[in-house]
Amino acid sequence: MSDFWQRTFVYPFFLFLLALLVWAVAGALPAASFFAIGILLRLFLHLRNLNALDRWLVDPEAQDVPDASGLWEDVFSQLNKLTRQHRKERQQHAAALQQMEQATSALPEGVVILDEADRIEWCNPVAESHFGLDGERDIGQQITYLARQPEFVQYLALHNFADPLKLREMRHEGMVLSVKLIAYGSNKRLLISRDITQFERVETMRRDFVANVSHELRTPLTVVNGFVETLQDMPNLENDMARRALQLMGEQTGRMEILVDDLLTLSRLENAQNVVQEEKVEVTELMRSLVGEGQSLSKGQHQFRLEIASQAQLRGSISELRSAFGNLVTNAVRYTPSGGEVVLCWKEAADGHLRFSVKDSGIGIAPQHIPRLTERFYRVDRSRSRETGGTGLGLAIVKHIAIRHQAQLEIVSEEGKGSTFSIVFPAKRRWLEANS
Ligand code: ADP
Repeated sequence: MSDFWQRTFVYPFFLFLLALLVWAVAGALPAASFFAIGILLRLFLHLRNLNALDRWLVDPEAQDVPDASGLWEDVFSQLNKLTRQHRKERQQHAAALQQMEQATSALPEGVVILDEADRIEWCNPVAESHFGLDGERDIGQQITYLARQPEFVQYLALHNFADPLKLREMRHEGMVLSVKLIAYGSNKRLLISRDITQFERVETMRRDFVANVSHELRTPLTVVNGFVETLQDMPNLENDMARRALQLMGEQTGRMEILVDDLLTLSRLENAQNVVQEEKVEVTELMRSLVGEGQSLSKGQHQFRLEIASQAQLRGSISELRSAFGNLVTNAVRYTPSGGEVVLCWKEAADGHLRFSVKDSGIGIAPQHIPRLTERFYRVDRSRSRETGGTGLGLAIVKHIAIRHQAQLEIVSEEGKGSTFSIVFPAKRRWLEANS
């Protein structure tokens, strides 16, 4: 029998023996009364302890565990042990939490924890300053109620958090934030905000500088080029060396003009104020005209083929898309030896994506170069690019135009076999007659 039951039955057992003794001395009635009173006393003691336990349970933190004796002493001492352990664990958790809070407060980034309904659960001081929040007052508030910029509300609603969002903060004049959401746990989200005002300022300065330099260079270049052409046309220019020098000067100034034009095109594309025209683009017509241009560049050295699997039209800027598609066709001709084939393809996927691609059977590109091709002035083979009149800016222009149309540039290539450059448009870029 366990210790508990032994101790439980000791008292009634001895009481019973004493009652037998009373019976022998004074008779049955006094013995029964004696036994009953003993049991009642015991019951009263239990009830008193139970009442003490009940009162303690109402607010265990405010008072010590009650004193008692016997079985109840064991129970209370166990409870005491548990409460002390519980208190110690709580203190440890609070200390760990405080440390976490101190660490996140020291972060240069703003951090906000959002629940499944985008309500604020917690935020650090940097986030308070970024979004104008109050870490105590705004807990439980909907974040979109406090940060109301439409692009931010849309970013949260779209649930596509692969890329960060650039946000112009209205509360602080000129502040630019980079905001990113990270999903974690069950339906929780971490909103990270970074102040990129300085970075944006430098980036704007760089853009303005390139645009200004290109603009300033354009006029003198046009003048020099004009004079070179006039001199070349002079009938009495006999000196062979002068003729050769003028020819080289003409070639180089021509190259510089193309370079300046490409730099200006890039600056225009990068300018956020320069919004995309929403025109109806007849892709198949455009492809036919690009084949014509490709053929004249190729001078009959390449085979051209059109694969038109969709009649869809695009919604976008005709001139920009002509420039992007044209760049890909020009590259295909320039990087494909004579006798090769260039295929222009237009099709749509089951999910509505629209794909324009240019496939060539040319020199191809080694895998390590592919991720860097859209960087300005990045060329796999500098001399080949120059020989064929490249500026190293073509694919950077293509990428920018794609981004402006929410499209993606995809490059698949195998060295020595050929390349396929595709621009993949989202379904929302399809022209619907309702757009007109
Ligand atoms: P470039 O004026 O030098 O052609 P681009 O930006 O158009 O500049 O292209 C960058 C580089 O990508 C090129 O220098 C070339 O090495 C590579 N490239 C582009 N298109 C092709 C292609 N169709 N086949 C092979 N290489 C290509």
